[in-house]
Amino acid sequence: MTDFPKGTVWLVGAGPGDPDLLTRKAERLIREASVIFHDALVGPGVLELATPDTRLVHVGKRSGRHSKDQATIDKLIVEAALAGERVVRLKGGDPSIFGRATEELEACRAAGIAVSVCPGVTAASAAAASLGASLTLRGLARKLTFVTAHARAGDALDLDWGTLADPQATLAIYMGKAAAREVSVQLIANGLPPETPVALVENASLPTETVFRTRLDLLPLAAKSALGHGPALLLIGSALEVACSKEDAKRRVLADAIGRLP
Ligand code: SAH
Repeated sequence: MTDFPKGTVWLVGAGPGDPDLLTRKAERLIREASVIFHDALVGPGVLELATPDTRLVHVGKRSGRHSKDQATIDKLIVEAALAGERVVRLKGGDPSIFGRATEELEACRAAGIAVSVCPGVTAASAAAASLGASLTLRGLARKLTFVTAHARAGDALDLDWGTLADPQATLAIYMGKAAAREVSVQLIANGLPPETPVALVENASLPTETVFRTRLDLLPLAAKSALGHGPALLLIGSALEVACSKEDAKRRVLADAIGRLP
């Protein structure tokens, strides 16, 4: 049973969007909450599970359009708990992956509020499922790296490209749409073969999901032409060869032709 007394906080993973991918515990916490502070990335079907008297507060941040800064979100959560509410902080995917969970946990603890975490299905798992692929592959992809390619406004990406360009790893790149060109150029410059398989999965698990398979050298072009405005994950590595080889022959020929353009 889930313990959810008044005046306490749960950080809850909402999964990638499809309400069927919520854990049973997450669903129960959503139903028991008196207030839910949620991200922009939480699927609408997930929020519909809340009871009509639950207050829903959108505190979403999408790149470039920060509606509430982190300190404000921390404060709202703490104030609601101190007012005796059952607080759910609902986050896309898993709260512990690029979810600013530490700030919120610390803010609650500093205020003496009991806070717990309910894990969720992260975007990389959902994207792999959409591809019908595995993120690891015996003997070929022994390592799985979760990395964010989001830089603070005006800053260059500060990533250790030498380490990331590991032919035995699968890279799951979160918030990587804007950095697609740099990712491609740097990984190739640091030794990954240009034909390394890449998959772009946008809106994974939602009815609007799109999946695009390409190769590392064509990634900048693919990111420009294949992606819309939804959240997208880049998966890179030879483990994806299995999924990518299912790609229809026509598209592969086209990709190769584009790759040969001057
Ligand atoms: N905590 C989340 C990640 C938050 S960072 C998790 O565990 O999934 C936000 C990034 O996650 C987006 O920019 C995108 O790269 C990725 N993402 C989240 N939901 C996604 C989805 N449904 N499909 C594809 N990528 C998604």
